[in-house]
Amino acid sequence: MLRRRGDVVLVDVREPAERDLGYIPGSAAVSRSHLEWDIEAAAPDRAAPVVLYCAGGFRSLFAGQELTRLGYTDVASMSGGFTAWKSQGLEWTKPAAGLSAEQQLRYSRHLLIPEVGSAGQARLLGSRVVLVGAGGLGSPAALYLAAAGVGTIGVVDFDVVELSNLQRQVIHTSDRLGQKKVESARRTINALNPDVTVVAHEEMLVADNADRIIAGYDAILDGTDTFETRYVLNDAAVAAGIPVVHASVFRFEGQLTTFVPYEGPCYRCLYPAPPPPELAPGCSVAGVLGVVPGIMGLLQANEILKLLLGMGNTLAGRLLLFDALETEFTELRLRRDPACPVCSDAARAAREAGTPLAVPSFGGAPVMLGGAPVTPGGAPVTPGGAPVTPGGAPASPG
Ligand SMILES: [Zn+2]
Repeated sequence: MLRRRGDVVLVDVREPAERDLGYIPGSAAVSRSHLEWDIEAAAPDRAAPVVLYCAGGFRSLFAGQELTRLGYTDVASMSGGFTAWKSQGLEWTKPAAGLSAEQQLRYSRHLLIPEVGSAGQARLLGSRVVLVGAGGLGSPAALYLAAAGVGTIGVVDFDVVELSNLQRQVIHTSDRLGQKKVESARRTINALNPDVTVVAHEEMLVADNADRIIAGYDAILDGTDTFETRYVLNDAAVAAGIPVVHASVFRFEGQLTTFVPYEGPCYRCLYPAPPPPELAPGCSVAGVLGVVPGIMGLLQANEILKLLLGMGNTLAGRLLLFDALETEFTELRLRRDPACPVCSDAARAAREAGTPLAVPSFGGAPVMLGGAPVTPGGAPVTPGGAPVTPGGAPASPG
C-alpha cells in the first residue's frame, strides 16, 4: 500500500524512547500521548489515508478510534505493529548514533549533507562556542549557531537591551528593553532550540578574567566593541590555542578574518597598535547599516561551523572586506608577524617557559568604541595592489 499510493501518511504512535530503537522509514512520529495535538501537523488532510502503527498493534488501534472521532475518514491500524513488520524482514531504520528521533527531524537538512551527517551533527551538539558580545555581530551568529545545534553557547556581555540596539541586534526584542543582554539572548536561543545550553558570562572581558572565561571553549566569536578587549581576547586565545573569528563593521563596510593560533596571524600581527580614536569611531558615533553586522555575523557563524566540523578552508591568513554599497567582497592575504609579541615562535617558547614576553598595553588609553584601524599593521600583504583601506575606519557594531 505504501509503495502503491503516494498519499498514505504512516504514523508511528509509539513514545520517543521506543522510536529511538528503530522505526519504519518515512513514518511520522506522533506519540499516542500527544496524538490530539500533533496529528494535524503530520496529517493535515483528514480525508487522506492514514496508517498507524505501534509496537504490537494495540495502541495504534485505540489511536485509530481517536482519529476517527477527530474526523479522519480513512484510518487503518497496522496489526502486529513494528514487531511484526521487523519479523517479516521489511525495511526499518535506526536513528543515527547519539541523535534522538526529534533531533533527527530538527537537523534533517544537516543529516542530508554527506560532509555533516549524523557524526557531524553529534559533533556540533558536543561543541562549545563563546560569543564575546551579544550585539550586532553576536546576535545573528547566535541565532544560526543555536539553530545549527551547537550544544553550548557562552555569551559574554554586561550590557542591557536598549532601544537603539534593536535596529541590528536581532536576538533581542522590544519587550526586553532594560533586561540583561545575556538573559535576553538565553531566552531567544532556548526558544529556538532547547538542545542548546547557554552559559551566561555577565561581565566585561578583561585581562584578569579572559583566561577563565574562554577556558574549555572550542571557538570564539569576537563581537567586541573596544580595542582593549580585542587585544586581551587575542592574547588569551593564542595562549589557550583557541581560534577566534573576528569581524568589525563601519557604516556600509565590514571586515572578517579567522585567527587560528600559529597557523595564521593573530590580531596583534594585524594591528600592532590601535588607531587614534578619531580614526575609529564606533557605531554609536559613525552609524552602521543594520544588515552589515548581520551579514558579517553570519559569515562569522559560517567560519565557526567549519572550524567545529573540520571542513572547508577558514579565513586564517586572509582578510575579507565587504562593501555593502557595491555588494563587493575583496580579499587580502595576511601573514604572521615573525616578531609578534604573542604568536611568534619566540613568544610561544617564552610563554611555555613561564616567562611570557611583554605585550604593549593600550588599557590606559581612553575607551574607544572603535573597530579595526584604517590600515592593518605591517604584516598584511596585498596581492595585486588591492587597496587595504576600505574607504574609512571600520568600527564595531557597538
Ligand atoms: Zn601574532
